Amino acid sequence: MPLTYSSSSPVSTSAPALHRVTTIQRVAMVSVHTSPSATLGGQDAGGLNVYVRELGRQLARNGVAVDIFTRRSDPFVDDIVEIADGVRVIHITAGPAAQLPKDDLFAFLPEFATEMALFSLRTGLRYDVVHTHYWLSGWVGHLLKRYWNAPVVHMYHTLARLKNQVAGGQQMESPERLNTERRLLSLLDSIVAPNPDERADMVWRMGGRNARICVVPPGIDLDRFQPEQGETARVSLGLPNRPLVLFVGRVDAMKGIDTLLNGFADLYHREWDGAKPALVFVGGTLLRDGATARPGPDLLPVVERAAELGFSEALLLRGSEPQELLPRYYSACTVAAVPSRYESFGLVAVEAMACGLPVVASRAGGLKFTVEEGVSGLLVEPGSPVDLTDALQRVMTDRDLRASLQVGARQAAVRFSWQSITPAMLNLYERLAEGERDDLCCMNSVYAS
Ligand code: UDP
Repeated sequence: MPLTYSSSSPVSTSAPALHRVTTIQRVAMVSVHTSPSATLGGQDAGGLNVYVRELGRQLARNGVAVDIFTRRSDPFVDDIVEIADGVRVIHITAGPAAQLPKDDLFAFLPEFATEMALFSLRTGLRYDVVHTHYWLSGWVGHLLKRYWNAPVVHMYHTLARLKNQVAGGQQMESPERLNTERRLLSLLDSIVAPNPDERADMVWRMGGRNARICVVPPGIDLDRFQPEQGETARVSLGLPNRPLVLFVGRVDAMKGIDTLLNGFADLYHREWDGAKPALVFVGGTLLRDGATARPGPDLLPVVERAAELGFSEALLLRGSEPQELLPRYYSACTVAAVPSRYESFGLVAVEAMACGLPVVASRAGGLKFTVEEGVSGLLVEPGSPVDLTDALQRVMTDRDLRASLQVGARQAAVRFSWQSITPAMLNLYERLAEGERDDLCCMNSVYAS
């Protein structure tokens, strides 16, 4: 049967090419459980999807053809969809063409790898490098070695070991995932860690090979994430004229939403000279019916908790928003709260910073490396509503502090521009394609300085 093909360009391709000459011609990305085209801010679509889509787009600007292989979860979508110039999503049939919980996908991974190999046989395409995302795709990368010679570089995006440490015994990741993540460290050609702490964890606690693990953080599209005029942004979003705390993210326990709600309640019930603050909550499901919207099942506990804590009138639920609109939110609000228990990198914090919005973030995972204490934001103890409240209040009430953080935030975010991240990734690909394996720990200068 011929492959069905369609083209859509949800992302702008107008920015200038980076013009880095590279020997890499074609890269296969693997993201089995979620597509780069998925709606962001839901349960399972966030930073990974953005990263895969944006890295693909940046590579394509350098003349590299990118195919992103994902599992078909919709029977009606075309086999191949072009999402930007030079970037295609290839839908691989492995298991039922329906949305499945990601914990159910492991059994379909051999079929996925075989179908990828058949695709390359049918089309005659060869890939210089395979870049896998999340542990399920890493396993596909391992299985693909039966069929392809190409080196496999892997990113975990989250590590079950680190997630379980802060999960408090709830929603623990499976032994199957823990074991697979450990095995991938020795089975694959290279691993990219998003920050030096995760790299150290992989080497010292999981037995990963020092020479094969690099640190290359994700990049930020600085053309998209720019400050807008705050008042205009606020009015155009229909947000009230009062201090605004912004949360953007998936509705997931790891995001520290319990801490956020407890901390915000304390902030709200304190004495305020003028209007009391409101909490702008972007992410999750809003079920719309004409002009009215009601919270979906994921947001209901948030609504109930806000009512228990006595600040229902100040909870402004916006549901998932398209990423194009987020610079407006970042520009309209007073401070961003990122109270995550664990965060591999935390794109939202850096996006907010790029728009000149000070960030109050947990001293957790990648946030320790992106948010500079007192320069681009404030860092607080993970899981401590009291710390969060105090830091939010400081930023909201101390004008001088806020003004200096606004400047510092924008400057700090520039370090994560794709202009510096893409060459680091291409450099790794080139070394892998040339057969190098034993000296790949190319610590990225973003963190080395
Ligand atoms: N995002 C979005 N719309 C939403 C919520 C989130 O576009 O309603 C995007 C956001 O811009 C960011 C990503 O989803 O790029 C979330 O990435 P982050 O690293 O902060 O969290 P993760 O989802 O990886 O845990």
